[in-house]
Amino acid sequence: IQTILLKQRPVGTPALSDFEFVKENVELSLKDGEILLETTYISVDPYLRGRMNDAKSYVAPFELGKPISSGIIAQVAASKNEDFKKGEFVSGMLNWKTQQISDGEGLLKVDKDKAPLSAYLGVLGMTGLTAYLGLTQIGKPKKGETLIVSGAAGAVGSVVGQIGKILGLRVVGIAGTDEKVEMLTSRFGFDEAINYNTTTNMRSAIQEACPDGVDIYFDNVGGPISDAVLFNINKFARMIICGAISVYNNTEMPKSVSVQPFLVKNSALMQGFIVWNYADKFPEAMEHLSSWLTEGKLDYTETIVEGFENTPQAFLDLFEGKNKGKMVVKA
Ligand code: NDP
Repeated sequence: IQTILLKQRPVGTPALSDFEFVKENVELSLKDGEILLETTYISVDPYLRGRMNDAKSYVAPFELGKPISSGIIAQVAASKNEDFKKGEFVSGMLNWKTQQISDGEGLLKVDKDKAPLSAYLGVLGMTGLTAYLGLTQIGKPKKGETLIVSGAAGAVGSVVGQIGKILGLRVVGIAGTDEKVEMLTSRFGFDEAINYNTTTNMRSAIQEACPDGVDIYFDNVGGPISDAVLFNINKFARMIICGAISVYNNTEMPKSVSVQPFLVKNSALMQGFIVWNYADKFPEAMEHLSSWLTEGKLDYTETIVEGFENTPQAFLDLFEGKNKGKMVVKA
């Protein structure tokens, strides 16, 4: 059994040396009610960075010397729990281990014949729910409005933009490479996309891409990109603050524009969003996401890294923008 532990709390940008690998030669034996799980796919997510700090947040920090955990798809290898049969696949918040024992609590069964297993970590998992619920619950989109999405080529962003198109919005994406920008417009149907790494004046690039101004901003990155969006918001604009990856590794408070004058002047709304606070709406969201997928209205991409041992590197690569769509590790 292989396990990945948090060895030390990262300072600034996390490094491989913050993680520790442990190999054990043990046979896991099951008590009544337990199941043995073999890890199939591991989700690596930007929010895990926050859990590596020793700070109070909406989820408890990881403990030093203990396994990291995240969304995982696993196969039941043996079962002494009547709710789970050998061979079935489940998804849940599990440890970064090749094998582990569970009592089944909090696990959801997933059907590999309905969608590829990895999709249950992305478009049919937490990131798809985030995209749908953030956009609809806070963004309250109305046909014909303009939506701009940062982190647009990532797991959440690429789904947000497509849902925006389904709901009749003009959609503009912001991403970090020309290849991603091309993918957004040609594959995912965004009306326009901006490469923030090659654009010198983001404020005017956004203005050009959004001639009628910005009604909804789905923010995954924070920092200077979001500052540039603020200058282009319309009266009654809604800003969904879903993530701020550009500042997760900061060791000092970032300098940014004062948001208050923009909010006042435009009677605009800026609201933080945590998907877990909308759990009562998960069934509704899943219904939309899965039917749009089946109907071919929604597409998705993923970056699949091979090998359990590459999980920490895959996580680090999120901060370098090495992924397109959902970053997943195949164990
Ligand atoms: P992504 O798939 O979007 O991966 C992260 C992407 O962020 C990279 O591919 C990279 O793309 C971009 N990025 C990295 N560094 C920077 C930077 N300095 N400035 C701008 N962009 C950067 O991850 P997710 O879709 O899983 O998550 C997206 C955001 O949503 C994160 O902030 C995450 O924390 C948040 N989130 C929030 C949830 C909630 O409930 N609130 C739930 C799920 C996710 P590029 O090449 O374009 O730079």
